[in-house]
Amino acid sequence: MTELPSKEARDAVHKTIASCGRIEYQTLGKSILGEPIYLYRVGRGKRNILYASAHHGSEYLTAMHLFSLLLDIAEGSESISGELFDEFSLFFIPCVNPDGVDIALSGFRPSPLYERQLEMSGAENPEKWKANARGVDLNHNYPYGFAEYKAIEAARGTVEGATLYSGEYPVSEPETRAVMRPTLAVDLSLVVSLHSAGEEIFYAPKGQDVGMLADRIAGMLGYKVSTPTGTACFGGLCDYTGYTLGIPSLTLETGRGENPLPISEFFREREVIRQALLTLPTLLPKGDL
Ligand SMILES: [Zn+2]
Repeated sequence: MTELPSKEARDAVHKTIASCGRIEYQTLGKSILGEPIYLYRVGRGKRNILYASAHHGSEYLTAMHLFSLLLDIAEGSESISGELFDEFSLFFIPCVNPDGVDIALSGFRPSPLYERQLEMSGAENPEKWKANARGVDLNHNYPYGFAEYKAIEAARGTVEGATLYSGEYPVSEPETRAVMRPTLAVDLSLVVSLHSAGEEIFYAPKGQDVGMLADRIAGMLGYKVSTPTGTACFGGLCDYTGYTLGIPSLTLETGRGENPLPISEFFREREVIRQALLTLPTLLPKGDL
């Protein structure tokens, strides 16, 4: 994929992936505004890895990393004949938040939520929108540390809008429910969540083994391993999969600069991120961490 992941571009990519015969897919659910959220599966192995991207609208380059890998597999330029794909099944959710991506790419558009979006944003900076269509930050809507996060919200006066509002209750949003489906139905050995920016990696749960995995990948990418603080500690996908479910989980803050990053950041990092994503499963010990 070499163009920004607009609705039209996503639909075209999905068509190619869905019809290639090498990649299975299913629809996990629909966004608030009715956009499908797809799960793709590559590989035949018994050990399962989940990759997710574009939880945040303005971080749409992360979707391009997963879509471009899937597209190259679909078109045969990325091989799936190796050991990796015998041992592992790789699951991908490239666009967790299609409505947020559409706002960030195309601005506030007519929908039943249009007036509310203008109110929430002051009709300003749609390109910086991170939340879903009704102003919930999906990466604070997962069931881990919700009460603690609500206390931070209350102290800061956080309300519905472009970023940081966690929702009325945990898992209130259809996009969150969609992503949770494979985390509950599949025995996952690793979860990788792509965000931007900062060239850093967070990991969960705390522990030497997961920390070493983070160190190895940070070394490959030239990133640093960081410890989340404040709002970054609660309600994220990797907080939930790492701490609530006990699955080794990595959050990759890809790219440098301020969101939305220029498309040149995608091209600059495309190869090294792809290598990192395909190397990660092979770094897992034979048993579970
Ligand atoms: Zn993010």
